[in-house]
Amino acid sequence: MAEINWDTLGFDAYRTRTVVKSHFKDGKWSPAEATEEFSFTYDPFAQVFHYAISCFEGMKAFTQKDGTVVIFRPEQNAARMKRTADYLGIPAPDEDMFISMCEECIRGNLEFLPPYGHKASLYLRPLLVGMHPQMQLTPYPEAVFAVMCAPAGAYYGDHLRSFAAVIPGDFDRAAPKGSGSYKIGANYASTFRPYKYAHDAGYAELLYLDSATRSTIDEFGSSNFFGIKGNTYVTPLSDSVLPSITNLSLRQVAEDLGMKVERRPVPLEELGEFDEVAACGTAVVITPISHIDIKPQLAGSEVSRSWRFSPDGKVGPVCTKLYERITGIQFGELEDTHNWCHKVSL
Ligand SMILES: *Cc1c(COP(=O)(O)O)cnc(C)c1O
Repeated sequence: MAEINWDTLGFDAYRTRTVVKSHFKDGKWSPAEATEEFSFTYDPFAQVFHYAISCFEGMKAFTQKDGTVVIFRPEQNAARMKRTADYLGIPAPDEDMFISMCEECIRGNLEFLPPYGHKASLYLRPLLVGMHPQMQLTPYPEAVFAVMCAPAGAYYGDHLRSFAAVIPGDFDRAAPKGSGSYKIGANYASTFRPYKYAHDAGYAELLYLDSATRSTIDEFGSSNFFGIKGNTYVTPLSDSVLPSITNLSLRQVAEDLGMKVERRPVPLEELGEFDEVAACGTAVVITPISHIDIKPQLAGSEVSRSWRFSPDGKVGPVCTKLYERITGIQFGELEDTHNWCHKVSL
């Protein structure tokens, strides 16, 4: 058993034991190989290195209250990776292969799977990269699919905390009709520098507006946006937003709790009307946002506008309720009425 303190785990590229790999070449996938060799060796002309032909997924495996090990909605991640791979022009694993390699990755890293009772999980990171060595800019049917994992904690400790976010006046995330809705590595490349500026200025999150008009809300740097207005859950509908599976699940949970759900363009001005605002994604589930500032120049200028949601840093009642419902389903404490938990045979 690895010496891991399950209660203090963050969300890091933790070095685990086994990576599961397959290579698509000459029209077929090679048999999945579980290896303890934690490195890849590939041609320096490979598409991925020069043209960022790379995409990934993120999902979690949980040890539930009764000891069952489950993955949360992996078929959704398989479908999203297929959609992204089509965009990049590389082959993608089908749902069966995707899920069975994720299961094999869990079995190959059982000592890193947190036991029940620590709010911790095993984060699975399926990666799909274009490996064909080439100079020309045309799709080629060759790719490597690899699944790795890392134990992940509750991220912010035992309970929810709220964080500040900033809207950068001088950075955009995705172009209209661009790649914003696909989970590609290249979307992340452009967020590294703005994230550094934001963190240096004391903000945990970046909130991006639509880059064409800068009048509606798109999403946070690596998570979706939602706001609570009375009994209504509001989240942006935009071609540039990544279709978050956490957001999809939260919309269902909100409905199950008798709330109204609106998925539509969200004008920036509406920020003043929300009782609670939060970021959502697999890694943290829900990150409540205490306030949002606009900085015309992220590194330098003063704040030009500001909205406050929880001045005392407390997490709102609706975010708390949604968080408890979804994590309760993940840990097998509440009934899984929508069949979201995929059982893993160990
Ligand atoms: C992965 C991701 C999310 C969250 O998606 P989940 O499926 O909920 O994990 C949100 N926004 C971006 C940009 C992402 O890459």
